[in-house]
Amino acid sequence: MDATTAPWDETADVIVVGFGAAGACAAIEAADAGARVLVLDRFGGGGATAISGGVVYAGGGTAQQRAAGVTDTPQAMYDYLREEAGDAVSAETLRRFCDESVAMVDWLAGLGVPFDARLCPYKTSYPTNRHYLYFSGSETAFAQVAPPAPRGHRVYARGTSGRVFAARLAAAARDRGVERRDQTRAERLVTGADGRVTGVECRTLRAAPAWARLAHRVLHRWSVKPGVYLPGLGKALNRPVAGIERRYGRPLRIGAARGVVLAAGGFVFDRQMMREHAPDYRGGLRLGTPGDDGSGIRLGVAAGASTAHLDRVSIWRFLTPPSGMLGGRLVDRDGRRICDETRYGAAIGEAVLRSPGGRAWLLLDAPTLKRCRRQVWEQTLWFQRWQAFWLLTVGRVSGPTLAAVARRAGVDPAGLADYQGVPPYSMIDFSVRKRTAVPAPMLTLGGLRVDENNGQALGVPGLYAAGRTAVGICSRSYVSGLSLADCVFSGRRAGRSVASEDRGGLHAHRG
Ligand SMILES: Cc1cc2nc3c(=O)[nH]c(=O)nc-3n(C[C@H](O)[C@H](O)[C@H](O)COP(=O)(O)OP(=O)(O)OC[C@H]3O[C@@H](n4cnc5c(N)ncnc54)[C@H](O)[C@@H]3O)c2cc1C
Repeated sequence: MDATTAPWDETADVIVVGFGAAGACAAIEAADAGARVLVLDRFGGGGATAISGGVVYAGGGTAQQRAAGVTDTPQAMYDYLREEAGDAVSAETLRRFCDESVAMVDWLAGLGVPFDARLCPYKTSYPTNRHYLYFSGSETAFAQVAPPAPRGHRVYARGTSGRVFAARLAAAARDRGVERRDQTRAERLVTGADGRVTGVECRTLRAAPAWARLAHRVLHRWSVKPGVYLPGLGKALNRPVAGIERRYGRPLRIGAARGVVLAAGGFVFDRQMMREHAPDYRGGLRLGTPGDDGSGIRLGVAAGASTAHLDRVSIWRFLTPPSGMLGGRLVDRDGRRICDETRYGAAIGEAVLRSPGGRAWLLLDAPTLKRCRRQVWEQTLWFQRWQAFWLLTVGRVSGPTLAAVARRAGVDPAGLADYQGVPPYSMIDFSVRKRTAVPAPMLTLGGLRVDENNGQALGVPGLYAAGRTAVGICSRSYVSGLSLADCVFSGRRAGRSVASEDRGGLHAHRG
């Protein structure tokens, strides 16, 4: 059908598909630029952002860094990220990301997102409720490249802070008059004869019976956290959610006068895409929500967009907390040291995955083990605590000599000959491939290729992409906070650009 004469059920200047961090930031910027913005979300918004740790990677001298007495510069941040995150984006784009980082945090703070300057004094995967600024990457491991600085800005809230992050962004969008259609799934992009994207075909529960909408909302909400930590339960709860969509969803066509932003998350929940693009990562813990089914990426591809880095998955193996674990040596089954233990959990996870059989053990001597045990209670939040206890008890073998402990772990003792420590020795299983009680969490990094100047999907006029639906700063390699920071960066870029398009005329076709 010719999109220019299509009868729309409703229209907006800008349609944003997905209301996580990227979608919210796009909507806020587009609304600030004067556009009438309509956001569609398959569920109630929030996405993976709302269940995340709420850590935003930022530096170059943010207000929080300065208040904590930390020295940092955009150049140091750039030098480190260039090394750690590689060339997923051009040097110019990464430089812009670093140069604008201080302003990005101020922008978020201006929207009501709370940050705090309390600096965590030890290395951890996620600080406790006493600390909100920390070394969230591998900065100290790259000290020869750039002066290390703590850049993990955890949103100020107890527990996992993503909930507050998403809520504040949602409130800021609401205050700007951004309209929402929740329980509305984008299923197809409408394009005109010239290939320009002019609208979205959806399936909505808007006219569904009240009980169906309620069941859809509640079951989805209940399925999200178990979907990460107890996948079987998450799947069982999500099955009726999909059934309700099939049974009660009704078509809805929405026209977009200026364009469409795809911000629908990644694809870690889509078995087929994972099998096709990232077969090595089977068995990991899927970090996301059922909305991370790759639909945003597929919508873009069907409209003519291309993808990159779909094979890049961030799989995490955190040695810390407790920070005492850094006194150990991470070895493969031949007893060879795998990598620098102070690297971020994603770099360690990748190194373990690539080691023979995906197997790895952390070798500790007696004083180190004792130190770790002492630190557990003080350095962990609930979701880290059970894991640390497990690793230090059930997940550990010990022996009076290196040969004995290696034999128990199934490691070749020859590789450990130069290790000097105090017996008895322990080895903790940090394998990735083997099914362990502590599966490795993972998220997808690749997505639609975009013009880095404006966020437009390459080759598709009227279409923009942001967050984990698009290629971004973290698409080669992730450190804590880099995905959310990229969602803000890319979401704002797409929102500004789409709002500046003005094709006009669409409103005449209101259905
Ligand atoms: C437990 C956990 C902890 C994490 N901690 C951090 C952290 O501290 N720092 C960090 O940087 N990253 C973290 N991450 C990763 C980060 O949360 C995500 O990469 C990021 O939130 C993705 O944001 P997004 O806006 O791209 O997508 P999302 O926040 O997932 O939002 C996408 C939205 O699109 C909707 N949607 C999907 N498909 C459709 C469709 N077809 N039609 C309409 N709507 C659709 C979904 O319902 C969802 O609301 C964490 C992830 C998890 C799961």
